Order: sequence, then C-alpha cells, then structure tokens
Amino acid sequence: MAIFLFFIAHWYLSLFFQTFFLHRYASHRMFDMSPLMEKVFYVLTFICQGSSYLSPYAYGIMHRLHHEHADTEHDPHSPSHDGHVFKMMWKTYQIYTGIFSGAIPVDEKYKASLPNWAAFDRMACSVGVRIAWVMAYIAFYYYFSPSIWLFLLIPFHAMMGPLHGAIVNWCSHKYGYINFKSKDTSTNLMKLDLLMMGEGLHNNHHKFPSRPNFGVKRDEFDPSFIFIYLLDKIGVIRLKKKKDFQRLEFSS
Ligand SMILES: [Zn+2]
Ligand SMILES: [Zn+2]
Repeated sequence: MAIFLFFIAHWYLSLFFQTFFLHRYASHRMFDMSPLMEKVFYVLTFICQGSSYLSPYAYGIMHRLHHEHADTEHDPHSPSHDGHVFKMMWKTYQIYTGIFSGAIPVDEKYKASLPNWAAFDRMACSVGVRIAWVMAYIAFYYYFSPSIWLFLLIPFHAMMGPLHGAIVNWCSHKYGYINFKSKDTSTNLMKLDLLMMGEGLHNNHHKFPSRPNFGVKRDEFDPSFIFIYLLDKIGVIRLKKKKDFQRLEFSS
C-alpha cells in the first residue's frame, strides 16, 4: 500500500509541477507570480521531480522551440521525424542538455522572460544530487516494498519527468482526436485527462498556446486548471487573461 501511494503521489506531484511551473509558467507565462513565490515553486518542483528535475530555463527554451518548429526537422521532439519513442527521448535529452550547458546556441527571442535561477539549477541537476534521489527511492522501497519485484518500478521514479514528457510529446502527436486542424500533428489524447493532468489536451494547447485552461469544449476537463484557478483566487499567482477562463463555444 505504501508503495502504491508513493508511486501515485510521485506521478501526480511531478506531473503537476511540470505542467504548472515548467510548462504553463516558465515556457508560456500564462500567469505571473512574485520573485519569492517563483523560488518557492523552484524548490517544490525540485522536491517533487527529484532525480529527474528539469531546469525551467532549459525546458522553457526547448519547449518554445517545439511550438515554433512543431513537426519539422527543427522540432526537438516529434514522432514524425524521430522514428521511435526511445530515439525521440534520446534526441530530446541531447538537445535539453545542450541548451542547459550552453553548447547549443539559442536565439535571444527564445530566452525572453524565462525564469533563470542558475545556481539552484546547477545544484539540482548535478549528478551527485540525482544519484542521492535515486538512493532515497531505493531506501523507501527497501523499507516498504513487500516484494522484490516492485523494485522494477524504481526506474520509473528515477525518470519521472522525462517519462511524462515522452508520453505527451509522442502520444499527443500521434493518437487521439483533434478539435483544430493545423500544420502540426498535435492531438488530444482524452477528454477527461485525469492521467496527464490536462497535458494530453495537446491539440487545444497548440491552437491556444497562452490559454491556461487546456479544456476547450464543454466535455473536456483539464485538472491542472482547477489548481491554477484556485492559486489565482488566493493570490499565490496572477492569471493574465481572465476571459480565458471561459470555455470556447464552437462546432466541431
Ligand atoms: Zn506538441
Ligand atoms: Zn506548450
């Protein structure tokens, strides 16, 4: 039971901070927050993503490149060009680390208004810290796992961030349905996106990249937006476009 709860908690907490902080805040600036709150969310993202913590700065640049070049040869990750999912993940890793280290030059326009706490990212992304997290996961399983076979779940904990990225970047450009025809292959994976906290409503997101609610039709549900709405209501963040709360009415 402890292992089950730990896995579910890690899945959803890591996913929430990826979509809330790395994607919707850092990459798209769908809302504002104070410099102090930004640091708080850096730390919370680090705790929840653990060994697979991703730098909001490098993630933001890579994600902006994805929107700009979706499904072309310049896209950092695309099922249309990358053969199979592991090839795509490896290419994504190389581009991400190239951006993070500065080895890949990036046009200034992709860096605009990105959060950049470089000293924290250096610590959180260091090999020693990543190994320490994995050791902590192993220790938890050592004390709480009723079966050695459950240790097979540890690689999923270790790779939680990239795992979520791969699911969205591969499946949401390949499977599902579309609301909006576009030049890219983005799709919506499911209407009630409880599994990916709204990230699976990807065709909607490509159509409206600055809209904080990824659910567009009446029967589409983006769980992360509920939290974003509440965080705005209690003053932790400030949503920019209040009118974006509303669902768009259109005929498909
Ligand atoms: Zn996409
Ligand atoms: Zn995006």
